[in-house]
Amino acid sequence: MILPIYTYGQPVLRERTIPIKEDSDELQGLIDDMIETMHNATGVGLAAPQVGRQERLFVIDLRGAAEEIAETNDGEIPFFAQEPLALINPEVIGIEEDAVMEFEEGCLSIPGIVEWVTRPERLRIRFKDRHFNEHELDADDILGRVFQHELDHLNGILFLDYLSPLKKRLLKRRLSDMANGAVEADYPLAPPGEMASAE
Ligand code: ZN
Repeated sequence: MILPIYTYGQPVLRERTIPIKEDSDELQGLIDDMIETMHNATGVGLAAPQVGRQERLFVIDLRGAAEEIAETNDGEIPFFAQEPLALINPEVIGIEEDAVMEFEEGCLSIPGIVEWVTRPERLRIRFKDRHFNEHELDADDILGRVFQHELDHLNGILFLDYLSPLKKRLLKRRLSDMANGAVEADYPLAPPGEMASAE
């Protein structure tokens, strides 16, 4: 089932999420729905708060970048780029502080806005997949980038928060319009209604 996506200004995007304790049919159904919703919106990642939920969970699909990822992995496509992946209770367990990379980021919850964001380039990450198998691996380049963006969603952080004060001023009008419900996308959005709060 395709779920409506919550957009900038809706409080659920600013709330912290709650660790997932155990597997359930409901959780598996939510994962399926989130993957379908991500595909419908042609996104590479989608976090639970973006569909109005508070589970510590996001899904990614890096198959579109599989060949690029393989180039830095001895020509082999790693498991995380072979199929859509659910990441449960994800965490960063190490950051190489002196290596950063700039990358253009967009967000399904902030349609139409793409900006350059600087983030750490190399991380060590840990998460459980949808079968509750634990993984610990080095995440650099594309995986590291998507992982950080989606993990931020689980902590109520949006990529806009990293922009310079000048950039934020330039976007202020568009964002306040968006928070007031002036937002369009070619995928279903959650109705703003009383959920919106100006930031
Ligand atoms: Zn996002």
